[in-house]
Amino acid sequence: MRFRGIVAALSVSLLCFLPFRLLAKNNPRPHVIVVGVNGMEWDIIRPLLLRGELPNLAKLIQGGVYGKLRTLSAPNCPKIYTTIATSTPPEENGITGFLVHGITANTSMLREEPIWSILSKNRVTVGMANVPATFPAMPVNGYMVSGMLTRGKGCENGLLCSPKLSEVEGGDAVYPKSMVAELEARVGDFWIDCSRMPTADDLRGKESKVINEWLAQVTRIRNQQLKLFDYLLTYHPTDFVMLAQSCEDRVGHWLYPIQPYNVGYNASIHSVRLDAFPNQYRAFDQVLGKILEHADANTYIFVISDHGIKPLREFEQEQPGHPSVHDHGGTTPIIAHHDFEDGDDVPGAFIAVGPNIKKNVRLMGFPISVFDIAPTILHIYGIEVPGQMRGRVLMNIFQDTAKRRYVSKATSAK
Ligand SMILES: [Zn+2]
Repeated sequence: MRFRGIVAALSVSLLCFLPFRLLAKNNPRPHVIVVGVNGMEWDIIRPLLLRGELPNLAKLIQGGVYGKLRTLSAPNCPKIYTTIATSTPPEENGITGFLVHGITANTSMLREEPIWSILSKNRVTVGMANVPATFPAMPVNGYMVSGMLTRGKGCENGLLCSPKLSEVEGGDAVYPKSMVAELEARVGDFWIDCSRMPTADDLRGKESKVINEWLAQVTRIRNQQLKLFDYLLTYHPTDFVMLAQSCEDRVGHWLYPIQPYNVGYNASIHSVRLDAFPNQYRAFDQVLGKILEHADANTYIFVISDHGIKPLREFEQEQPGHPSVHDHGGTTPIIAHHDFEDGDDVPGAFIAVGPNIKKNVRLMGFPISVFDIAPTILHIYGIEVPGQMRGRVLMNIFQDTAKRRYVSKATSAK
């Protein structure tokens, strides 16, 4: 297969590369940081922005282009992140959901080349951490720490659970492997992903206690993630960086602050911590602030989410065997989800800031889709957009195309 050969060639050739820190220091390529937030929901973040409770996100919005990101039908994290990375539909890239033919999605199933491989081949240094569906970690011109769907002790199927770095099984969570010892020593034995949601049995009769303990664990995971991101950005700077957080989505599924009239409402669970879901964005904003310490006026920053998340609706919950029941934790009493048939019901978020990106511009409607992210980033690096990519270069987000510093061979929208 075409892409299999590329991976094999990369894994050999990258062994000969200079340490990526040296490369990054001496090379003038654009600095791009992509921050993925699983299930960022505009309905929740808008009031927080208005109250001034997300100062770092507000700064990006005021300094850049922002709006809804069109996602696909029945969106979920592995499916959409892989679409973002390859700019190809799930049925072509091989990652159609959490499970593919009954097996947890993994990178050996990838049939189209993701952006981190294309950048690596073009000698752009690449740093990645916690991006969904990147397990086992792939060889890149830099480093990769896997994310959601990593398998390990207590999380054997990798489905929405959280092995520690030392407990990963069935593949490598870190490329290059030699970085594992360094991360364990300098960052600690961190959880790769957010926690599994409690089951209905776990919750019954002790809802408040279980909810508060689970949220405390989410805070511990996020603090470790913050430490990991800060360490990587400080000691392993790369041209291209992609980091992702997934606790927002996990919390939203069962602790979305909804009205008592909504389908699925259970006062013993849903009146306990109305602040739980908004708090995830307050905490995310702190993480974003730390990431922004590693950016300057010449850095391109993309904050994106694969989809939003909305309260359940009766007419769709009547469908037997709805995928969310399986994909999101079995018997957890879910109150919100995102795999609605019409993906436009749960758009993602798109915020872009950079040296030649327009400022304080709101994009109305759906002018940007998940397919457009990879072509636009390749364009920033002056790399030709491969023919299989379905998205377009987002020329409309740039200020003055005539004065752009980096000129791509593939500037025309496809
Ligand atoms: Zn989800």
